[in-house]
Amino acid sequence: MILVTGGAGFIGVNLIRYILDSTNESVVNVDALSYSGNSASLKSVELNSCYHFVHANICDEIALKQIFNKYKPTAVMHLAAESHVDRSIDGPSEFIETNIVGTFKLLEASKSYWLSLSKQDRDKFRFIHVSTDEVYGDLEQDAQAFNEITAYKPSSPYSASKAASDHLVTAWHRTYGLPIIITHCSNNYGQFQYPEKLIPHMILNALAMKSLPVYGDGSQIRDWLHVDDHVCALYEILKKGRVGEVYNIGGQNQMTNLDVVSQICELLDELKPCSANIGSYANLINFVVDRPGHDIRYAIDITKIQTELGWYPQESFRAGLRKTVEWYLTHLSWCQNIMDKDYQHAPIERGVTIK
Ligand code: NAD
Repeated sequence: MILVTGGAGFIGVNLIRYILDSTNESVVNVDALSYSGNSASLKSVELNSCYHFVHANICDEIALKQIFNKYKPTAVMHLAAESHVDRSIDGPSEFIETNIVGTFKLLEASKSYWLSLSKQDRDKFRFIHVSTDEVYGDLEQDAQAFNEITAYKPSSPYSASKAASDHLVTAWHRTYGLPIIITHCSNNYGQFQYPEKLIPHMILNALAMKSLPVYGDGSQIRDWLHVDDHVCALYEILKKGRVGEVYNIGGQNQMTNLDVVSQICELLDELKPCSANIGSYANLINFVVDRPGHDIRYAIDITKIQTELGWYPQESFRAGLRKTVEWYLTHLSWCQNIMDKDYQHAPIERGVTIK
């Protein structure tokens, strides 16, 4: 029984579907269903007897205690977080609450449950903390990619809160011996991503013939990781990763934001051509004032996970992006439901046009 937190969010949904489809494990999904959590994404597994859902906040220590006692997990995979950088700039307090205080409460609940186990079960228990490459800050164009010993230098309230949570997790290992592993992944993309994030946001804006707001000159570089590759890496780490270690997970796909948006436009031009008077969707691209503290470049060195665990990303960006665009084109009602219910426009829309 694996306890997944944040399993109704983008990566969590894909992780749970992967575990239930490809392994014999059961899952209990603990999620507060905040704005980015969507239980409709897990409709297909609701009736699976290996799947359990508990609507709870990771800051609620009483609920956590009950969950551990009832489900007796052999592992925790901690994904619950406030995850959108722009929102953290507008209102950091929820990031401090969920990402830092929530992680602390979860560590405490995990620790007291873990201490109650037999020696044999204690040895097998794992706490996998899913963090981000953003804790490392950013890189100059020609600087070496982040590895597991790169110093932390977070830039945004989001990445600072994730960095703080990493330190708590490390301390609970060092001080109490809790068997933890920390992962840092690069930007994920793929099916079920909340519509405010770059790739779905651009697809949906283009289809609605709205402008495609690109921060600054669009030259920021991200290393894009397909979510299917990411969840596979997380499961490998759970099964074979070394306790107390950090593993970086990247997609080997460094791309500027402008390249990403241009490729989305090309794919849409082919798959869903727009009206003749606009020509290409690329004509909707609109450069807006840059995000404060915007990181220039992230890049991930995956040597450790590749050599130790034999994991390597399988998806090329071009093929992964095509699959993603096709998924959104065939799941417009999934997006519409979110946007009708509780979608607040992403702060990216508020940028002032500079070009
Ligand atoms: P998401 O925003 O799509 O999902 C977060 C989930 O956590 C939601 O289901 C939400 O309801 C839940 N949640 C939020 N606060 C909660 C609370 N207090 N208690 C219980 N549940 C709560 O995020 P995601 O993109 O799926 O990211 C998952 C994890 O991966 C996060 O920890 C994030 O920092 C990390 N990460 C994501 C990316 C990415 O590109 N998406 C990159 C690096 C790291």
